[in-house]
Amino acid sequence: MSLHSFNYMGIPVEYKLIRKKVKNINIHINEKCLITVSASERTPVKYVTDFVESKADWILRNMAEIERYNLTKPDDMIYDGKNVFILGRQYAVKVIESQENSINIEDEYVVIKSNSSESDVLKSQYMEFLKEKAYDVFSSVLNEMYQKIKCEGIPEPKLNIRNMKTRWGTCNIKTSVITLNLQLIKTDIDCIRQVASHELVHFKVKNHGKDFYRLLEKYVPNWKELKKAMDTRYKDGI
Ligand SMILES: [Zn+2]
Repeated sequence: MSLHSFNYMGIPVEYKLIRKKVKNINIHINEKCLITVSASERTPVKYVTDFVESKADWILRNMAEIERYNLTKPDDMIYDGKNVFILGRQYAVKVIESQENSINIEDEYVVIKSNSSESDVLKSQYMEFLKEKAYDVFSSVLNEMYQKIKCEGIPEPKLNIRNMKTRWGTCNIKTSVITLNLQLIKTDIDCIRQVASHELVHFKVKNHGKDFYRLLEKYVPNWKELKKAMDTRYKDGI
């Protein structure tokens, strides 16, 4: 690995060169805008630099796009003034320095009392609070939907909660465990009902075929709308 740079219209561009058994010269830009170029042992550095320079326009365009995305992407930290969702309602976080640690919802605020102002500490305190809330809400929603759907020959589910990146819920048919994403606590109760029902229906129909959606629609007629609302409004990673 070696570092190289060149000037493009007055802008210094630096790249990392990695020697690999590759046919062509490959340029990769990561999410931190670092450029990595791979080329075979036999390609002279001068040739590589000339090639990268010839792509400078494309590189800078991509870097600008990555930076724009980084600026607008949702942040996953907890701090004073941050807006958070709980059960579909928006609240502003208020951080108060205090000897005791507690979190309470007061009107339109989530009031976090903490002996630390460190973002990481506040975040883990907040996640604990969300987990407790989620446990109460998810248990009652899952039971409510189970009571409605059990006549389809569905076994009583056991609830598990996890913070997941990509899925709202999963189910294990063998152990009758339904895992709901902690993130669901941000959505409203109808969205949680939709996911709980979706997983319950899987106990009867494994795949997402016609039978599956026929059954889901019977208990949650507007599931499509709810799913769309969830995917667009509530994915910010906290
Ligand atoms: Zn599914």
